[in-house]
Amino acid sequence: MSVTHGGAGAASFRARSRPSRAYLRFLFGHSRIGHSPIGRSPIGRSPIGRSFFRLSAAASVAGMLVVTAVGPVSAHHPDLTAGAAERVGVLTGAGLRPGDVVTDHGISVVVPPRGEMIWAELKFDDGTSQTLSVETDRTGAVRLLQWGDEAAGGPDPSVPSSTTSAGTQTSTSGVEPAQPDGTSGIKGECSDGSYNRFSFRMPHLKWRYASGTTPSKFRNRTNGTRQVINALKRANRNITDARNLCGRSDRIGAQGTYLGTTSRRPNVSSGGSCTGGDGRSVIGWGSLPSNSIAMACVRGISGGVAYEGDIRINWNKAYETKSRYCSGELLIEAAMTHEFGHLYGMAHVSSYSSPNLTMQPIVSYCSMAHTTLGLGDMRGLETKY
Ligand SMILES: [Zn+2]
Repeated sequence: MSVTHGGAGAASFRARSRPSRAYLRFLFGHSRIGHSPIGRSPIGRSPIGRSFFRLSAAASVAGMLVVTAVGPVSAHHPDLTAGAAERVGVLTGAGLRPGDVVTDHGISVVVPPRGEMIWAELKFDDGTSQTLSVETDRTGAVRLLQWGDEAAGGPDPSVPSSTTSAGTQTSTSGVEPAQPDGTSGIKGECSDGSYNRFSFRMPHLKWRYASGTTPSKFRNRTNGTRQVINALKRANRNITDARNLCGRSDRIGAQGTYLGTTSRRPNVSSGGSCTGGDGRSVIGWGSLPSNSIAMACVRGISGGVAYEGDIRINWNKAYETKSRYCSGELLIEAAMTHEFGHLYGMAHVSSYSSPNLTMQPIVSYCSMAHTTLGLGDMRGLETKY
């Protein structure tokens, strides 16, 4: 049995042993194992990954796309060979079923229940990222929506090979005249109308902060935890309030509400897996694969509304809360404005052709550039909400 993996080569299948129930509980949290009624999640929608371009560091996590079946053991244990470039599109017929664990170059997700989708992204400090998105439609058919090795190259994220119910949707607007910014061919923040969207929507993100995970650097500082929370709140509002330097009014209908601190943790593991699925959106800190800065997981109804968005920030990376404290660090507000953009359903634009937009993936040290939305960032969000 084999399956063609995006034309990049055949994949073979191999059997894996069945995991323990404890492992299943770890993976699934409170949700039921194996299947799940469409109405389980209150609001759902599907996130889909963003693709990327490729510098070098992500190669350190390069591996294979491995699918481990945790459902009834049968012949359906595809092992999709690595080496294939990142794909945005639809791969069906891979023998996947809800409950299977799909591992793609260092990150993994559990194939969601019928009618649901999951999107995951591990973001690295060089602007690369690894993304994986899987959906199970109402008939039970499972589709990989985004998979493969971003570091190995792939389609320009601004040109997805297809648009699916949970896939990326592209729109590049050239309506407004370009404002010369001194860089040939590159538009400024207020004139670059490019955007890519996931088809899922997050009309009202209600999130909590896992205060117990705050790095000691901030905990030991007077009001340090509060400064972290405030930076996260600003990051959220930068998206929902359309913070910009272009004089554009807020036409973004999405809402974000900070509900306070929680003892819960983001449903993201240190190894780069989306875990649980408790319907609670939590942002917090923890260890993550080396050179990564954060990982986000979004769950939702396939082609519908997302009901959970979690972000785990790598506490082994140097972050700061404010520009005036910053020296060779990442600013929480800047990096998280971009991550909140993903939670609200925005995908990446190319950092080559649209380097001035918030949804381009390279976050520079001590730079606040990501904290103000560009024209394309706003247009993309406006069309969704
Ligand atoms: Zn990103």
